[in-house]
Amino acid sequence: MASFKYSKQPLYYAGQQQITSKTFQTIDPSCDQPLAEVCTADEASINAAVASAQAAFPSWSATPPIERSRILLRAVALLRERNDELAKIETDDTGKPFSETSTVDIVTGADVLEYYANLVASGGLNGETTQLRPDAWVYTTKAPLGVCAGIGAWNYPIQIALWKSAPCLAAGNCMVYKPSEFTPLHGLQLAQIYAEAGVPPGVFNVIQGAGDVGAMLTSHPSIAKVSFTGQVSTGSKVASSAASGMKYVTMELGGKSPCIILPDANVDDAVNGAMMANFFSTGQVCTNGTRVFVPQSLLPAFEANLVSKMPFIRAGDLMDPSTNFGPLVSKTHHAKVLSYITHGLDNDKAKLLAGGPGHPVFTTQANQAGYWIRPTVFTNCTDAMRITREEIFGPVLCILPYDDSQPEYLDVLVKRANDTRMGLAAGVFTRNITLAHSVIARLDAGITWINTWGESPAEMPVGGWKLSGLGVENGRKGLENWVQNKSTLVEMGGSVATVFSKL
Ligand code: NAD
Repeated sequence: MASFKYSKQPLYYAGQQQITSKTFQTIDPSCDQPLAEVCTADEASINAAVASAQAAFPSWSATPPIERSRILLRAVALLRERNDELAKIETDDTGKPFSETSTVDIVTGADVLEYYANLVASGGLNGETTQLRPDAWVYTTKAPLGVCAGIGAWNYPIQIALWKSAPCLAAGNCMVYKPSEFTPLHGLQLAQIYAEAGVPPGVFNVIQGAGDVGAMLTSHPSIAKVSFTGQVSTGSKVASSAASGMKYVTMELGGKSPCIILPDANVDDAVNGAMMANFFSTGQVCTNGTRVFVPQSLLPAFEANLVSKMPFIRAGDLMDPSTNFGPLVSKTHHAKVLSYITHGLDNDKAKLLAGGPGHPVFTTQANQAGYWIRPTVFTNCTDAMRITREEIFGPVLCILPYDDSQPEYLDVLVKRANDTRMGLAAGVFTRNITLAHSVIARLDAGITWINTWGESPAEMPVGGWKLSGLGVENGRKGLENWVQNKSTLVEMGGSVATVFSKL
């Protein structure tokens, strides 16, 4: 019988661990070895999880926001206390280096929980009052939605779980959350932390499984809202199913974002930005700036600087603090990214500047079998290539040179940057701040950066335009996606306005 690094992972609902007979395995991507057996939810367990959330809702939604806040802030403290322990689990499950999971994943998740706990305790759920006449006014209140479903992707497992559950629970809703089947380990950990902090049974529940389990959960008639993170193709299926039940949705989907280097940019900064926008998390970041537009006038300097920095990307033992590049998350995803690299070379005929197919130089006996890949740079790319049109979701940077010798070059550049059905992120590197703002204003994207890439703090609402999503997460705006409005008109004039009076 196989031995696993982690014990069997149960589901969690009604405040208890729940075992099912069917299981699946989660795999360590660095060496292709199973890490744990995970219980798969079936229809009965999904119904039970939703029922436990329904039962918890009346009391949790009636709990004063300041009291909910106190409980959630205790969970923040526990997350920070257990940062490294949780980061190790995320490293095992995702293949991301510990240098990254220990400084980003739990940290940014806990920050968002702290932000929403503080926001609801300080009037974030207040409505508005409008005086209509001296004796009549309208007031609005924000009511929680009920039982909400959270469906996570595999690239930021615990962060995604927190970005969804933080505003959900702070606003007085209950959640049934399903992690990606590729990265299930954080689910139980987070449920236990919430329980230890004092979140009542049924308020936060975890079910596990693949797309079929996700589909059963999101189409459940008692679910009021679906918050989904994943691919555009899956998101559109989930949104269609939710629309038929008139459920609220938030959709955080994929991108093919432009990273624009303007002719006056500082080359060193621009290269650092482009590298962050393509190689952090082995390129598995939704907001990556994978189409890097570089002016012909800067191209030689940009390429030389980039090539000189490629050795700073260090694959290696994931617990080594100097390792900053891990494997891809799964065998399937590895095959997909590799096929794009091969396509870029053989079919798109892009010029390979670094990387390419094959294993990174770093190898040990154990990681021979892992899903490692080389950070890859293509140059002389064009807008029509498959590698510049489709989301690869791996460490593949495509340089698209542009002619900056004509005065109208900016119009052409903006048009090219916007020539995609996705609109998640965009960024500009320039020393001219006026130009930066005017270019940003013309880009079709919900998340934009000037002279930086990737930072996504709790205060910043993030969400995609076009096919990249619906609604936002984080910031004050993020809370609005977890409440519904009630308007009340109060008449104190002593008589009801009517047209039905005697003549
Ligand atoms: P995916 O769409 O394959 O899966 C996402 C989740 O949906 C998983 O939990 C999966 O089990 C579930 N699922 C699959 N089919 C379903 C169905 N029919 N009904 C309900 N749930 C279903 O995505 P992935 O490969 O896990 O994640 C990578 C994608 O996520 C990339 O496209 C990336 O850009 C995107 N992403 C977006 C953001 C963002 O904030 N915009 C953040 C992270 C990742």
